[in-house]
Amino acid sequence: PVSPVQHFIRSIIDNDLATGKHQAIQTRFPPEPNGYLHVGHAKSICLNFGLAEDYQGRCNLRFDDTNPEKESEEYALAIQEDVQWLGFQWAGEVRWASDYFEKLYEFAVELIKKGLAYVDDLTPEAMREYRGTLTEKGKNSPYRERSIEENLDLFARMRAGEFADGAKTLRLKIDMASPNINLRDPVIYRIRRAHHIRTGDKWVIYPMYDYTHCISDALEGITHSLCTLEFEDHRPLYDWVLDHISVPCHPQQIEFSRLELHYTVTSKRKLLQLVTQGLVAGWDDPRMPTIHGMRRRGYTPEGIREFARRIGISKSENVVDMAVLEGCIREDLEGRAPRVMAVIRPLKVTLTNFQEGVTASRSAGFHPNHPEFGEREVPIAKEIWIEQDDFAETPPAGWQRLTLGGEVRLRYSYVIKCDEVVKDAAGNIVELRCSLDHDTLGKNPVGRKVKGVIHWVSAEHAVPIEVRLYDRLFTDPEPDGHKDRDFLEFINPHSLETVQAWAEPAMREAPPEQRYQFERLGYFCADRFDHRPERPVFNRTVTLKDSWAK
Ligand code: ATP
Ligand code: MG
Ligand code: MG
Repeated sequence: PVSPVQHFIRSIIDNDLATGKHQAIQTRFPPEPNGYLHVGHAKSICLNFGLAEDYQGRCNLRFDDTNPEKESEEYALAIQEDVQWLGFQWAGEVRWASDYFEKLYEFAVELIKKGLAYVDDLTPEAMREYRGTLTEKGKNSPYRERSIEENLDLFARMRAGEFADGAKTLRLKIDMASPNINLRDPVIYRIRRAHHIRTGDKWVIYPMYDYTHCISDALEGITHSLCTLEFEDHRPLYDWVLDHISVPCHPQQIEFSRLELHYTVTSKRKLLQLVTQGLVAGWDDPRMPTIHGMRRRGYTPEGIREFARRIGISKSENVVDMAVLEGCIREDLEGRAPRVMAVIRPLKVTLTNFQEGVTASRSAGFHPNHPEFGEREVPIAKEIWIEQDDFAETPPAGWQRLTLGGEVRLRYSYVIKCDEVVKDAAGNIVELRCSLDHDTLGKNPVGRKVKGVIHWVSAEHAVPIEVRLYDRLFTDPEPDGHKDRDFLEFINPHSLETVQAWAEPAMREAPPEQRYQFERLGYFCADRFDHRPERPVFNRTVTLKDSWAK
């Protein structure tokens, strides 16, 4: 196991354990089931579950399901799958904020009884006006001084469904003059007749996020409640609520900076837009920065975890280069993906002196450093496919691939020489006629050096495969960073190219999600859903070299 990178949250934990403030740590990952998780969530998962692992603590998976209209069972299931796929397991049962609805209601009653919460009749517009601005203090609502009895009665009737949606709210009585707007009597309950994925139609009032979150944390005995920086301003409210009700403990909220990645967006709302507008094939489209998308593309959980480790945890905002993520994936696949040959832009080569029974095949290992991966026969035949790019009629200086009259080695096979170029009526090269040197199987040619080695497949043995080549989804490094322009304006229209290619016969037997290196081309993964023995489909996970540098 790799050693963790020290960061400020680990230092806080080290200290809390050293001073005996805590005997063990308890963290949680609290997604809202309103979309699929993205790479930013992966950072938070690796942080929360990773800390629990490192410190032999526990990490809960808790769904923050307080917005019934936007939430679904599909999303909740996909989120659980993602956490497990990344290699983590939550402590005990999955938790749901909705499990605490009754308790949350009782705490609200406790706050009303203490004179710390009141029912308000202001309309949303009026409430906004009363709230004030950053430079202007807010004003007290005319309903702020209702008696405790009246508030208790109205709140019970809100729950009983006596009032229309939006007609009343329950608010905390904190301070309308606070410089922190979050403390200007925040709403903690709203009336909303919406069907909830877990509680059905039982409730017509729903608690707000800020109120729900801190109490859920406290009820679960969370020691360190880690969230992203935009919640820094909410921390006083988090603490205020817990300071004024009878909860078993008071977790510490600690903020860290969000992960942003160049050339993509990390916001569920924007990713949902891509899906609903049909700009991608779904949440698990391999171009999506979702965990489902990365998985389908062939990214490994280990690579993503290494990425999270490498980018670290801090409070400074920064946008990470896609090359860092791809580098982690490439490094991980290098040592573990079997290597095979496929030709994605085929050019026919006829080996004119091929001799049945004389021209021999060799077997080759699937990985130079892993003999245990086994080996296979690499069959040769009179007709083979090579990559169009590997031939140039008028080669640039330093060319080591094939050219008319030149020689090149076929990987794991013979040295061949190009004797003739065949063109169609339009002048396109359609075939090369080459001779092979029968004396070069597994040995160097006599009296000359042949530097170039190219990949190829036997036309007779190869299987047709569909290959999906992916490019960045956006043409701009920060598609959502433009004030007057919508991120959708920066969609890359060429982010997917589908080609018909040829691969070694073994590719027919590849199980879905098996990853390979196609030699000289990149890492590819058998598609999780579309790949079949009769119709193999491979997604390009990542190229062999960094293609992001400008
Ligand atoms: P989005 O804005 O994409 O909807 P969210 O924060 O609303 O994200 P949640 O489901 O509430 O989504 O997130 C669950 C957890 O993941 C939260 O603790 C949140 O702070 C964390 N998280 C979300 N996005 C990122 C990110 N880009 N980087 C790091 N952590 C993130
Ligand atoms: Mg959220
Ligand atoms: Mg959100």
